[in-house]
Amino acid sequence: MRIVLISTPIGYLGSGKGGGVELTLNSLVSGLLSLGHSVEVIAPKNSKLYRSNEKAKLHFVEGEDQVSWQHQNYNSPVSIPNNSLLAGMLEKGLDIAKKADVLLNLSYDWLPIWMTLNVDIPIAHLISMGSESSIISNLISKVYKKYPYNFAFHSKTQANDYPFIKKPIIIGNGFELENYIFQESMRGPMGWVGRVAPEKGLEDAVYVANALGEKLNVWGVIEDEKYASKIEQSYPPGTIDWMGFLATDELQKELGKCRVLLNTPKWNEAYGNVIVEALACGVPVIAYKRGGPGEIIQHGKTGYLADPDNKETMLSYVEIIGKIKRQTCREWVERNASAEIFANKVVSWLNKVINEYK
Ligand code: UDP
Repeated sequence: MRIVLISTPIGYLGSGKGGGVELTLNSLVSGLLSLGHSVEVIAPKNSKLYRSNEKAKLHFVEGEDQVSWQHQNYNSPVSIPNNSLLAGMLEKGLDIAKKADVLLNLSYDWLPIWMTLNVDIPIAHLISMGSESSIISNLISKVYKKYPYNFAFHSKTQANDYPFIKKPIIIGNGFELENYIFQESMRGPMGWVGRVAPEKGLEDAVYVANALGEKLNVWGVIEDEKYASKIEQSYPPGTIDWMGFLATDELQKELGKCRVLLNTPKWNEAYGNVIVEALACGVPVIAYKRGGPGEIIQHGKTGYLADPDNKETMLSYVEIIGKIKRQTCREWVERNASAEIFANKVVSWLNKVINEYK
């Protein structure tokens, strides 16, 4: 199959601004290449793919980023900046896809979904968020009526945000296992990984660390400076150890030393890449049962699930985290979330999309 991928219109690949989509795209490219497919990627200037993805052709587009939907009001109108990166990527993608089998869009935005109704090229959409915008959800509903297979989701709970989709296509996510090294360190620090932004709930993890008299290691892009400093000021100095944003190779080395990862989503988390990355290193995860984490973590086996926003329960699980066998965490990823397993699911989904156009 010849597949053209459109990246996120927020940040170049490797910047961390695009969140989990950056890793998802790389895992997908790697899985598709290993299955023998041809892959081209349309991405913002300065983007880098993982070394293992050299065989994929990368096309650069310059332009202005979109504003992330989760940081706008649910009923905000669509805004497209002058010299729009998204429009540029879409134009280039459509042009290259004339000679391809399918255009696979990874951006959560209005324009590529709307375009589905206006061209004969199959455009498949991997939806990376729950419903964060009324205008996008309404459009998905409209396109779905004509092309019922063109949307796939990472988790069932995420797809529940789009109730008009009767039998959602759920494809999970995939991770290149060779990039994550298993570590046996049961006495390490507590960790938290993610974009530092309100929907990620860092404050609850800091609360738990402080209540236990420990510090919390935090990795990720600080997307919202005000939010970050407000949390920092609410706790004794040094409670948060800001570790910055690291590339996967470095991140996994540090993350693997932790005895537990805390995951505290305040929104319907579509999947939660960082959970699987921790598990792949042998690190159990305690998360709120909200969105994807509730489907990834096996309570009592690979970590624990606390009721959403219940910090006290989360704290009580940290105290018994030693009961979780780290090897079981790694094994879960090997059996359920490798890049190949993921790519196979994507290919069978894309075949359904392509068949609609025949
Ligand atoms: N991440 C990273 N380096 C860091 C912190 C985070 O590469 O120092 C990546 C991580 O690998 C993951 C992404 O950031 O792929 C966060 O994705 P997730 O699905 O957890 O949340 P999202 O940002 O998409 O809401």
